[in-house]
Amino acid sequence: MIPRATPVGTGWIEVVCGCMFSGKTEELIRRLNRARFATSRVLVFKPAIDVRFSEGDVVSHSALRYPCIPVRAAGEILERVGDAVVVGIDEAQFFDMDLVRVANRLADEGRRVVIAGLDQDFRGEPFEPIPQLMAVAEYVTKTLAVCVVCGSPADRSQRLVERDARVVLGASDVYEARCRGCWRPDPQEARQQVLPLG
Ligand code: ADP
Ligand code: MG
Ligand code: ZN
Repeated sequence: MIPRATPVGTGWIEVVCGCMFSGKTEELIRRLNRARFATSRVLVFKPAIDVRFSEGDVVSHSALRYPCIPVRAAGEILERVGDAVVVGIDEAQFFDMDLVRVANRLADEGRRVVIAGLDQDFRGEPFEPIPQLMAVAEYVTKTLAVCVVCGSPADRSQRLVERDARVVLGASDVYEARCRGCWRPDPQEARQQVLPLG
């Protein structure tokens, strides 16, 4: 028997994680577009809460887009997945821990599950359920952005407004990509830092 590069007889889970602007959605769309050369049975879901750019598409900050189904809860994915063999999920950090059960079930049923989401919140804390999904995934990719202060690889989302809620929707109006050294817990301090690039 020839050894294979992917599991035989089951599906699997791929996680693409990183900070904001790191290219998670671009990478998700790239994988889905490639999958479509092999099958038309590709479906993508996102949490209905994410209406920043479009309700019916996942959209990257570089304006790539892919049609998707907004759902209110992870369990709804099981109801709507039908016979899809490739299942994409964007902004997975906005789902609750039930997404771990759902992703495992989809993979157990023989599907390829590609999940993109933030691995840290604006405080730099692990952002559930992404760490748990990384643990059960066969493949994990960490994407890095470019620090807007120093140009280093960036793995943190710098919040620029004084809001304590874990979820504050926004793009470059509310967040910046920053490296470990340039990231500040205090948004006011962060805003005062000089941005030498540009
Ligand atoms: P994510 O889904 O991780 O938030 P996207 O895939 O939506 O990221 O967008 C990635 C794109 O964001 C990059 O290709 C680039 O065009 C843009 N971008 C804006 N700011 C930055 C940054 N600081 N570092 C890297 N890419 C950035
Ligand atoms: Mg994204
Ligand atoms: Zn930096």
